[in-house]
Amino acid sequence: MTTLNGLSRRKFMATVAAASGTALLSKELFASPPQDPVVNPVQKNGKTISQEKVPWQVLPFPISQVRLGDGPCKQAMEADRQYLRSLPTDRLLHTFRINAGLPSSAQPLGGWEAPDCELRGHYAGGHYLSACALMYASTGDEVLKANGNTVVAELAKCQDALKSGYLSAFPVEFFDRLRDRQRVWAPFYTLHKIMAGNLDMYVYCGNEQALAVAEKMAAWTAEYTQSLSYDHMQRVLGTEYGGMGEVLSNLYAVTGKEDYLEVAQRFNKKEFFDPLAAHRDELKGLHVNTHIPQVIAAARYYELTGDRRYRNIAEYFWNEVVSERSYCTGGTSNHESWNTDPGILAAELSNNTTEDCCVYNMMKLTRHLFGWNPDAGLMDYYERVVFNHRLGTINPEDGTMMYYLPLASGYWKTFGKPFDAFWCCTGTGSEEYAKLTDTIYFHDDNSLYVNLYISSQLEWPEKGLQLRQETRFPEQQGTKLIVSAKSPVEMGIHLRIPYWAQGGNVKINGQPLAAFGSPSSYLVLNRTWKTGDTIELNLPMALHVDSMPDDETVQAMMYGPLVLAGRFDPVTKEMMYSDSEPKSGDQIKVADITAATGRPTGWLEADLKQPLTFHTVGQAQSTTLVPLYQIINDRYAVYWKVNSKSS
Ligand SMILES: [Zn+2]
Repeated sequence: MTTLNGLSRRKFMATVAAASGTALLSKELFASPPQDPVVNPVQKNGKTISQEKVPWQVLPFPISQVRLGDGPCKQAMEADRQYLRSLPTDRLLHTFRINAGLPSSAQPLGGWEAPDCELRGHYAGGHYLSACALMYASTGDEVLKANGNTVVAELAKCQDALKSGYLSAFPVEFFDRLRDRQRVWAPFYTLHKIMAGNLDMYVYCGNEQALAVAEKMAAWTAEYTQSLSYDHMQRVLGTEYGGMGEVLSNLYAVTGKEDYLEVAQRFNKKEFFDPLAAHRDELKGLHVNTHIPQVIAAARYYELTGDRRYRNIAEYFWNEVVSERSYCTGGTSNHESWNTDPGILAAELSNNTTEDCCVYNMMKLTRHLFGWNPDAGLMDYYERVVFNHRLGTINPEDGTMMYYLPLASGYWKTFGKPFDAFWCCTGTGSEEYAKLTDTIYFHDDNSLYVNLYISSQLEWPEKGLQLRQETRFPEQQGTKLIVSAKSPVEMGIHLRIPYWAQGGNVKINGQPLAAFGSPSSYLVLNRTWKTGDTIELNLPMALHVDSMPDDETVQAMMYGPLVLAGRFDPVTKEMMYSDSEPKSGDQIKVADITAATGRPTGWLEADLKQPLTFHTVGQAQSTTLVPLYQIINDRYAVYWKVNSKSS
């Protein structure tokens, strides 16, 4: 980062998050609003026109057609929903109104929404709107939709008062500082959140005023960037700018106005894209979450222009980050950066590894790659992140969220105070838990992809089909799918066989199939499906080791998809809510492990009474391990130094 917020953080820091990529189906034509970039026709002279040059091979279902059933994902979504409902709109609007010269007597929010924080507005007028819109789509929560509509209407008044189309909770002078390369935190980052929040309110809630607000902001952005030379703009891009390229692309997709795509591409940072296009990993030294949203924008440019250079950039980047720069949880970043050459991670363990915004954005990017090429490995990664990083980083008690997920041993999880955090990760978290519905199922014309094993129900009206997924996964090692069809439907149901599967089998209507899929593939069940048909998928889990790429003696233990963590002493409420990360140096010492060379998982044995619980055997320090996501207020250890003795 080139800038700082000197008030609410003790060190220079800024992060980015792209709100959900979105586009529109005309709501006159379609019963339910769409939620994905590729589903975006525009009406012109009575004709439906899509801007997409590269349609996705497989599509997600509109979020409104998927509902979660009981389980850890629904618990996380409900905690988020209650948190969003607890935020008063007048407090959210306070700094916007003050900045526009409109009266407000509301109590200001704290943290990164405080009236003197340079990032103010990013949550209140941005992430909050995206989260309300997504939560409405996922649950039908009318209160949040109404609150979102209120905020849009009041933001529109602020925008009118400011006259130029500019809308922010901070003065436009911040953009003068940006242009003059003076110190300022991240003005375009904040603008992106507000534009994306409004766009999401349009796409998911049909709020036309929100689209108008976003378009006026885009016009202001066009004018501001137009006045800068290419080289000058490239220097401006040295300051974190979030997903400006993405949201402007999505505005183009929604409206068909080509100017937006041109303005979007002014946000292409040459020095970042060029090495990626040449398949050179020059990521060392970069602030991680400044850059992932730029790759999501590249994915959109590929989809909207057909230029394969952008796909090349996105796919190379994804592979490099996932295979060389990610931990066992699927998270990436240490102290918000990539500090090393590829594959060097063993010494990159700290109290502030794996910023939450990074996984949020990597999950978004993964969905684009999967849309282009439905490869099971992409969803293996997605599952890894959902169950090891996204679950467990929201507090089920009050919906507060984490900033980092520390992976150095002996630390604990810290959560933001409800009205005094509003970190970047509070924002992306608020969105994430509102859209846990969006990737469970994908489809093409004649097939259904079951990507994730999460208790849920899918409506597919075009096929007259309803699918219920009953599972207690990951406590249950498998799932059950129950079909309900108005009339028999011939199609393929694709079941993801995860990378961790140790054998397994499938039964249709109680009858075992002779065939099964290999790990990290889709098992395709072609058949005419009718009401009452059931599929039972059995996926046995086993212990396995995930070691550091550069030191195989630094190991995490996994059980099926789950990262296991040693559970140590509970921490106090003060420690849980103290800051964005546990205090460096406050970790407890965790003893090394000794394991027999021939049995790398032999130092653990399963608890016969408690599911997903393991105990160490033959170690100096006796420890219990449980899934990392289940730990909320205890110190923990994920990576162990394992010394081997010959067996
Ligand atoms: Zn963040």
